[in-house]
Amino acid sequence: MKYMDLTIEELHSLLVKKEVTSEELTLEAIERIKANENNIMEANCFDAALNLAKEIKDVKEDEYFKGIPYLLKDNFSTKGIETTASSDILNGYVPVFDAEVVSRLKNAGAVLLGKTTLDELAMGGTGSTGHKGVTTNPYDKTRMIGGSSCGSAAAVAAGIVPFALGSDTGDSVRKPAAYGGLVGFKPSWGRISRFGLFSFATSLDSVGFFTRSVYDASKLLTLLAGHDTKDMSSSSLKVEDYSNYRTNKKAKLGYFSQLVEDIKDETIKKEFYSLVNKLKNKGYEVIDYSFPNDLLNAIYPTYMVISCSEATSNNANLDGIRFGPGVENANDYEDYVHKARTKGFSDMIKRRFVIGSFSLLAENQDELFHRAQKARRAIVNELNKFFTVADGLLLPAAPTLPPLVSSISTGWSYEPDYLENHLALANFAGCPSLTLPLGKERGLPFAVNITTPIFTEKKLLGIAQDIEDLTGLKGLVKGGC
Ligand code: GLN
Repeated sequence: MKYMDLTIEELHSLLVKKEVTSEELTLEAIERIKANENNIMEANCFDAALNLAKEIKDVKEDEYFKGIPYLLKDNFSTKGIETTASSDILNGYVPVFDAEVVSRLKNAGAVLLGKTTLDELAMGGTGSTGHKGVTTNPYDKTRMIGGSSCGSAAAVAAGIVPFALGSDTGDSVRKPAAYGGLVGFKPSWGRISRFGLFSFATSLDSVGFFTRSVYDASKLLTLLAGHDTKDMSSSSLKVEDYSNYRTNKKAKLGYFSQLVEDIKDETIKKEFYSLVNKLKNKGYEVIDYSFPNDLLNAIYPTYMVISCSEATSNNANLDGIRFGPGVENANDYEDYVHKARTKGFSDMIKRRFVIGSFSLLAENQDELFHRAQKARRAIVNELNKFFTVADGLLLPAAPTLPPLVSSISTGWSYEPDYLENHLALANFAGCPSLTLPLGKERGLPFAVNITTPIFTEKKLLGIAQDIEDLTGLKGLVKGGC
C-alpha cells in the first residue's frame, strides 16, 4: 500500500469509488508514523482515529475530507488530547474544548491522528526548540525542515498524511513548506477562526496548512474560512468557493530584484528568473519593483519587537500551577511562578520574553514598541503602494536549500536579514500568502512564494495554480517515511 503518498483529491476519489476504505488509510498512516524517524509527533489519538475510520462506510462526492487522515500542530486545542505546544510549561495540559478548525474538520469527517511537534510555543524557525528536540527533514535527516510548524511539514513531506495544519505568525507554515517541497498556505488575517489556537502574536497569527497541491489548499480554505462568534477578530466577509479559482485573466506580478540578486544559491536564482519568463510567456506581466531598502531591513527588527511584545503578554497566563514542569519548595506564589517559568521555558523563549517585557516597559514603549508599530505601518503602506501597480508579489520563499541541522546555532540564531524574513510582510499586512515548490537541487526542494492583497485568496490560488502547472511539481513527497 502507498496511499499516503497521494493528494487529498486522489484519496477522496478512491474513497468515493470504494477502492479503499478510511480504515485502510488510517492504518497505513499510523504504520508510517511509527516507522518515521524525523521526530514529528507529540500526543497521538490512534485508537479514536481507528474507531472513527471504521465507522466511515460511504463517502459522497461532496464530502471531500470524509475519511481522510490528518495531523495537527500541537498548539491547537484538542478536547481530551494533551496539548503542550512543545513546551514543558504545558506538560499535562489536556484541553476541555476543540479549536474551531478541529470542530470543522471533525464535522467534515476528517480523521485526526494526533499532534505534531513545533518550535516551542510556535516561536522560532528551525524546528529545534521544542521540548522533544530537533524535527528533521524527510529529504535528508541531517537537514532542517524548518519551523515553527516542523512536525506538520515533515509529516506531509514524508508521505504520512496528505495534509496537516500549522500556524503562521512570520513564516511558520510557508518556510517549512519550502524546505519540504509542499504547498504552504496562510490566508488573510481573520479569514479563519483562531479560536483554540494558542496565541503567539495576535496581530500577526494565522491558521495555515500544508498540502501537496494548490487545489487541496483551496478545498481546505473553503472548509475552514468564515466568521466564528467565538473569535471576534474573525472576518464576517462572505466565504467563497475558493476551489473555483481558475480564470483566463492573467494577473500583473512584481518582484524585488534587489532581494533576488542577494541570493547566493545560483540554482534558486536561475530557476526564479526562469519562472518569471515562463509566466510572461503565459500572458502574465511581471515587473521589477524597487522596495526601499531601509524598509526591507526594518522587517526583522520590527517583527521581533512586535511579536515578542505580544507573545510576552499573551503567554503571561502560563504560571505552571495547574500543569507544567512541577515545582517543589516554593516560598510563595511569586517564587513558585518564577521557578516554574525558569524550568518550563527554554532559553529561546526566555530571551523573547525579555525582549517583549523590555519593549513594553513604560519608559521604553515609545522608543521600542510604538516605534516598531510605526515601522510596521510604513512597511505596510509601501506594500499597499506596490499593490497599486501589481496584483501579486512573487519572491523565492527561502534563499537557500534546507540548512544543515548542525548549522543551527545554540545562541541567538537569527540574523537581521530580509532574505530570511521577507515572508513576514504578509503577516504585517494581513495578506494571503502561499509557498509552492519551484524545483529541486541535489534532491532537495526549493520554493517560490506569492502574496496578494488582503482577502484576495481566489486570485492568489489562481496564480499558484498556473505556477504549479508550469513547474509540474504537484504531489511531491519524499516517501519511504
Ligand atoms: N520564524 C519566525 C519566528 O521566529 C516565525 C514564527 C511563526 O510564524 N510562528 O518567530
